[in-house]
Amino acid sequence: MGTGAAQIHRIQPYQADKTYICPGCNQEIRPGTGHLVIVPVSDPASRRHWHSPCWEHRARRRPTGR
Ligand SMILES: [Zn+2]
Repeated sequence: MGTGAAQIHRIQPYQADKTYICPGCNQEIRPGTGHLVIVPVSDPASRRHWHSPCWEHRARRRPTGR
């Protein structure tokens, strides 16, 4: 998966009016929850909504070994 530069937009609780699935934890981001939108510069169409903590922790995610 190519992960180049991405723009990060902070969504305020009053702006969140839909339910999204966070790719970091596969849990719902419910309406009224402040979160982040990550927009890859090279592929703006594949924007993703993340919980703020999930995005912040993604780089520290360790291989869990499966
Ligand atoms: Zn999450």
